[in-house]
Amino acid sequence: MKNQETQRHGRVVVLVPTPLQGHMTPMLQLGTILHSRGFSIVVAHTEFNSPNPSNHPEFIFLPISDNLTEHETSFKNPQDSLLAINNNCKAPLQENLAQMVGKKAPNEQVSCIIYDSFMYFSKAVASHLNLPSILFRTSCALNLLAYHSILRLHAEGHLPFQDSKAQDLVPGLHPLRFKDLPLSGFETSEDSVKLTQLLSNFTTSPAIICNTVDYLEQSAVSKLQQHYQAPFFLIGPLHKLASATSTSFLKEDTNCIEWLDKQAPRSVIYVSFGSLTIMDKKDLIEMAWGLANSGQPYLWVIRPGSVSGSELTELLPEGFEEKVGERSCIVKWAPQKEVLAHGAVGGFWSHCGWNSTLESISEGVPMICKPCFVDQKVNARYLSYIWKVGLEMENDSERGDIERAIRRLMVDKEGDEMRQRAIDMKDKIEACVQKGGSSYSSLNNLQEFILSF
Ligand code: UDP
Repeated sequence: MKNQETQRHGRVVVLVPTPLQGHMTPMLQLGTILHSRGFSIVVAHTEFNSPNPSNHPEFIFLPISDNLTEHETSFKNPQDSLLAINNNCKAPLQENLAQMVGKKAPNEQVSCIIYDSFMYFSKAVASHLNLPSILFRTSCALNLLAYHSILRLHAEGHLPFQDSKAQDLVPGLHPLRFKDLPLSGFETSEDSVKLTQLLSNFTTSPAIICNTVDYLEQSAVSKLQQHYQAPFFLIGPLHKLASATSTSFLKEDTNCIEWLDKQAPRSVIYVSFGSLTIMDKKDLIEMAWGLANSGQPYLWVIRPGSVSGSELTELLPEGFEEKVGERSCIVKWAPQKEVLAHGAVGGFWSHCGWNSTLESISEGVPMICKPCFVDQKVNARYLSYIWKVGLEMENDSERGDIERAIRRLMVDKEGDEMRQRAIDMKDKIEACVQKGGSSYSSLNNLQEFILSF
């Protein structure tokens, strides 16, 4: 581990990312930033969905054997997968890190382990090795507050909630309604309760790092600090602070940029539901006709395996391609950050994963929000109700609803107003990552904090 930075201050940070796209990307971005500030970076990763070392020659990669079954790597039941990762990876991580720490030269010192909140086994490993550990949250602070509150609501008998309460605001969790809570099978499964307990148990960490922005989440963070005095480092959006290096598991199809170059400014609706969402063929057909009938050009990501039981070639309805022609560009995986920064893109129809949300508002692109599960509903609520830069779309929308939503966002005055607000947000976010801005300063504080160990 003899590189320039180790010689500079000899401090090593071990990162433990969750092997999911939306978690791996911000963790690697955090690594890039810490590396640029003189730390050596070790990425301890599962064999499943491992990052590509050639994209990060400056990092040391430490594979952890995970023994995951095919069902567990499918993440069809995320709870099973997370519990399996946490059970299987603890011993190998402990062994590998103990060996690594044992081999360190006196002028090289492991400062701490920074672990994704889903990889909570890392905390026990750190304690065993007498190393400090810091929790890293890749979702918004309000989502952490929601996890924290779910256990209270459960204990007070508010969960599971009746359908009649779905639209009610959750006490103490403004602006979330019961239907926005990031519950997953919580009502019935013991494992789900256990997992929520583990994910909301942040109070023993000496600090929390969040990929979020102070001006957007002050209220959620100050509520969290009523339970917890240690520092929160709000250092997002990380993609605006880290140099652009590919972190995608899938190959990005860059041809869509040439297609975007030919479209009118702010005319294109970009459609992508992230790395995990699965839809059925009926939904896809409604989407296809909704997009076709909207009259807008669109760039649509249909990820391999994202439509149950179908191959891309057999998915689209007959007569569809003739109807849309050059107005349509469909890819399997897009260079999303570049797409959202492109001047031809005027709107983003999204599942509202937190990375997609940050990437969109950082470029001033308003959204159609179609959240599916976990924190996506929390993010969609922020976008539509608080920040007013997104239109909420109900599940089971049909082609007519989709066409109307696209027109509202892309053509109507309502959409223009949202775009203007999104552009204001972009400017404010830019100020946060500049020298002297809140995220930039928080990053300086984080650096000092790690060096103080
Ligand atoms: N992404 C991408 N190309 C695509 C679709 C998504 O690069 O075609 C990236 C996107 O930029 C984001 C991540 O995949 O960084 C998805 O993370 P998010 O939190 O939005 O959703 P998740 O996949 O975790 O549901």
